[in-house]
Amino acid sequence: MRVLILGSGVIGTTVAYYLARAGHEVEVIERQPGPALETSYANAGEISPGYSSPWAGPGVPLKAIQWLLMQHSPLVIKPMLDPAMWRWSLFMLRNCTEARYRINKGRMVRLAEYSRDCLKALRADIGIEYDAREQGTLQLFRTQKQLDATAKDIEILKEYGVPYQLLDRSGYLQYEPLRAARPRRAGARRAGARRGQGHAGGRAAPARRRDRRLLQVHESPG
Ligand SMILES: Cc1cc2nc3c(=O)[nH]c(=O)nc-3n(C[C@H](O)[C@H](O)[C@H](O)COP(=O)(O)OP(=O)(O)OC[C@H]3O[C@@H](n4cnc5c(N)ncnc54)[C@H](O)[C@@H]3O)c2cc1C
Repeated sequence: MRVLILGSGVIGTTVAYYLARAGHEVEVIERQPGPALETSYANAGEISPGYSSPWAGPGVPLKAIQWLLMQHSPLVIKPMLDPAMWRWSLFMLRNCTEARYRINKGRMVRLAEYSRDCLKALRADIGIEYDAREQGTLQLFRTQKQLDATAKDIEILKEYGVPYQLLDRSGYLQYEPLRAARPRRAGARRAGARRGQGHAGGRAAPARRRDRRLLQVHESPG
């Protein structure tokens, strides 16, 4: 079959590769001067299947209203009289329940784990070399409430066999021993940008919260 692919980001390129390998005649069209110069160029480079989560989740409708009122909102909806847009919004709202979130996250994690395995096979296949590190991902929570809110996500990780560990402060320092050696103030100043939760390398937990539990999700290497 002759296949035309529009866009040579990570998706277009890998789809082209697998189709060509399956014997199809593939052509990729790209508007940029080279491949992967848009979103696939400047992402965080993290392969973390366990973090795959649907946007539609409990609490999101309320957050979405708040986002819409923000100057630099993570969500932009241009008011449109487009029936398809309103239908999509209704479907999205219907999926914001606990039960639907659980089903959808489970599906996403399964798919993401499968994709991670395909990526490993692809790397072995083409022998691509890059600065890959396989050390898992550390996620820090500033408040107990935030950590408690991950309980449902953790259940899903358990259900699908994604390895993870819950760490307290000393457990955390096993993985980040340099944090113990640094003066606390300096550590706290090495600020991560995001409030609430961050990956390793983000802001150290304030001293008064140091005994709070932290969550580490160890993904199988990606
Ligand atoms: C800030 C940020 C951080 C991220 N971090 C991560 C991460 O850590 N881990 C992770 O897994 N994902 C991450 N993502 C998501 C990930 O980067 C994207 O899901 C992925 O790059 C999307 O790939 P794509 O091929 O679909 O799109 P793109 O990489 O955007 O490719 C689309 C291509 O299509 C071309 N194109 C579009 N329209 C036309 C046209 N009409 N004619 C010709 N060519 C066209 C574009 O030029 C572009 O090259 C991040 C995303 C962002 C924005």
